[in-house]
Parts: sequence; structure tokens; C-alpha cells
Amino acid sequence: MLAAARIHAQADTLTVLDQAIGDGDHGINLERGFAAVSAAIRAGPPTGDDVETASERLRQAGRTLISTVGGASGPLYGTGLLRAAAAIGSGGPGTSAGALFVLGLEAAVEGIAALGRSTTGEKTMLDALAPAAEAGRAALESGQDVVGVARAAAGAAELGAERTIPMVATKGRASYLGERSVGHQDPGATSAALLVRALSDSMAV
Ligand code: ADP
Ligand code: MG
Repeated sequence: MLAAARIHAQADTLTVLDQAIGDGDHGINLERGFAAVSAAIRAGPPTGDDVETASERLRQAGRTLISTVGGASGPLYGTGLLRAAAAIGSGGPGTSAGALFVLGLEAAVEGIAALGRSTTGEKTMLDALAPAAEAGRAALESGQDVVGVARAAAGAAELGAERTIPMVATKGRASYLGERSVGHQDPGATSAALLVRALSDSMAV
């Protein structure tokens, strides 16, 4: 699983970011979570590349993250994945891959915002994921296929993560720092951008 490999490669970077404005466990949290997701998927039965399989894998990944990641990001990402799984599963026959991608991302954003009682501009993963969903929607409406949609989403997520640098954190541990959180990129927004990019790259091959 590309996402797990990328998280593994960037775990130290994520931890350093979390050391600056959190408690320094974000890289370790996600590395543990995604290693468990990979193991669960490898242990499962071999499956096809249909929508049902994608939905089931997302559900399995979500459940695994919730049960293996101790930090705030586990339940948040896990819930996002469970919501994405449900949205994709109810997409209906004939829904294009690009449309499913956008529906999944939008549902994840809604789920995370609801659980975290958070919105954009608060220096969290939502500052990467919400612009990603918007850019994906715009690309879809301009007629792009799933690869174009995913690329647009990944670019917007990366830009969104960079834009957390001047923000003041008002949610999660980083909010304890108040103004001192300014000048650091949010670890969760950074991992979110990394995950959307991994998803996009895995579609382009
Ligand atoms: P913890 O903060 O419990 O140590 P992590 O370090 O794994 O958990 O994750 C921290 C990240 O979680 C933050 O960088 C932020 O992006 C995200 N986060 C924290 N609280 C919220 C929230 N209420 N809504 C959305 N994202 C949040
Ligand atoms: Mg942390």
C-alpha cells in the first residue's frame, strides 16, 4: 500500500512537525496505524478492483486506524475513511470513478469536521482536506477523469498544508500554544496532503 510506504518514509518529518506544535507523536501514530492497515489488507482475501472492494477496504482501514492510533488523528482519519467508504458504497451504479473520489473526499471532510467540531482556518488536517475536496469537485465539473481529479485534489491539499504555517491553532493540542503555533506547518495537514498525494499517485500508474 503506497500510503503506508509514504507515511513510513515521512514519519520522522511528521514527528518533527508535531514536536514543534504538539507532543511529537504524529509520525509514530500514523506509522503504527498504516502498518496495521497494510497488514489487515494483506491478511484479507484477495479481492478485485470494483467499487464494493474499494468501499470495504476503506472501511477496514478506518476501523483499523481507530483501534490502533492513540492520538487525536486516529479517530479523525478513521472516521473520515468510514464516511468515505459509506459515500462510495452508496454512489450507485454508473457513478464515475472521479465522482466517487470526490464524494468520498467530501464525506471524509464532513465526518472529520463533525467529530473534531472543527472547520477550515483552525490549523488542522481539514485545511488540507477541504481544499482538496473543493479542487477535486471543480476538476470533476470541468470534465476531468479520476486521475485529473485526484491530481487536482493532491495539489490543493499540499497548498492547503503550506497555508497552515501562518495560522493560529484553535483545535487539538497545538491550540494550547495559541500564538506560538504560528510559523509551523500543521502535522495533520501535512500528513493529509501526503495521503491525498499517495492516493493520486497510485491512480496515475
Ligand atoms: P495528538 O494531537 O492527540 O497527539 P496527533 O499528533 O496524531 O494526535 O495528531 C495531531 C493532528 O490532528 C493535528 O496536527 C491536527 O491536524 C489534527 N487535529 C487535532 N484536533 C483536531 C480537530 N478537532 N479537528 C481536526 N483535526 C484535528
Ligand atoms: Mg501528537
